[in-house]
Amino acid sequence: MGSPLLEVKHLKKYFSVKGSRSGNLKAVDDVSFFVNEGEVLGIVGESGCGKSTMGKTLIQLLTPTEGEILLNGENIATLSPKEVRQKRRDMQIIFQDPFSSLNPRMKVFKIIEEPLVNFGIGTKEERKQRVYEVAKQVGLTQKQLERFPHEFSGGQRQRIGIARALVSNPKLIVADEPVSALDVSIQSQVLNIMKDLKKEMNLTYIFISHDLSVVHHFCDRIGVMYLGKLVEMADKHELFNNPKHPYTKALLSALPKSHPSKVKERIVLSGDVPNPANPPSGCTFHTRCPNCMEICKVTSPELKKIGDQHEVSCLLYEEQMERLT
Ligand code: SF4
Repeated sequence: MGSPLLEVKHLKKYFSVKGSRSGNLKAVDDVSFFVNEGEVLGIVGESGCGKSTMGKTLIQLLTPTEGEILLNGENIATLSPKEVRQKRRDMQIIFQDPFSSLNPRMKVFKIIEEPLVNFGIGTKEERKQRVYEVAKQVGLTQKQLERFPHEFSGGQRQRIGIARALVSNPKLIVADEPVSALDVSIQSQVLNIMKDLKKEMNLTYIFISHDLSVVHHFCDRIGVMYLGKLVEMADKHELFNNPKHPYTKALLSALPKSHPSKVKERIVLSGDVPNPANPPSGCTFHTRCPNCMEICKVTSPELKKIGDQHEVSCLLYEEQMERLT
């Protein structure tokens, strides 16, 4: 695995909301991580944890509130809108819902060709050949390119979305719940296409999902998000075999019994995910944490390294570390 293709430093994405204590909804709150070239980084968490907002902010579909996004060492968070549009050639997104992300009035050929036209890539003939090439890679025939999106099944529409994302030869793909709208039987087909294309095109993926089984199957490293923050980040084997954060433990305990990484006892979290516009004080997980201590209600933990390729944000480990030093 290569050097970091993407480095994210103290990324924040806040939205103004009335009625919140701070006046902001902190959808992404001081998140730092890296992704190596050729790596698949999974980001997991419950709905509303900020993972999709982070994905959109990374590729500048949303403007960051603060922080750096270094793509090959260049901070793309400070580029002008025109420069961002050009940069998007190197970083593309695959959306969850293939139907709503495809223009229903355009034929599939035009949908896949559109990024090439927007980026001013190639002659008409070169673009045609490139569309045919990428369509073949995702398993679409030339005949199918003359149809409209509504004439395809969900799995085929996601193939169209993948072809469109890959046609400009990007380096980084943010895949935002790319298979969660598909039948289970189709999910593995689409994931296998994404895996094959990764090898063929030396792609780097950020794979956003609420489904730990899918992330386990597809990713090299995994970050767990809760209320806009990364609470644990580790190599996938380390995370599944040796989870540290109480939230990660609870998520893993909910895996089906047949899953190889299923932990013995189900940990049922009390309460619902708090309103992100008014998050709890201290550790934002304290209202649901089975290990909550008094200090957790007033002190916010930071993501700290606790081992090779393993970081966790929890006061349980900060205290242990202090006793050891
Ligand atoms: Fe639980 Fe405290 Fe750790 Fe937060 S800091 S996860 S409340 S033990």
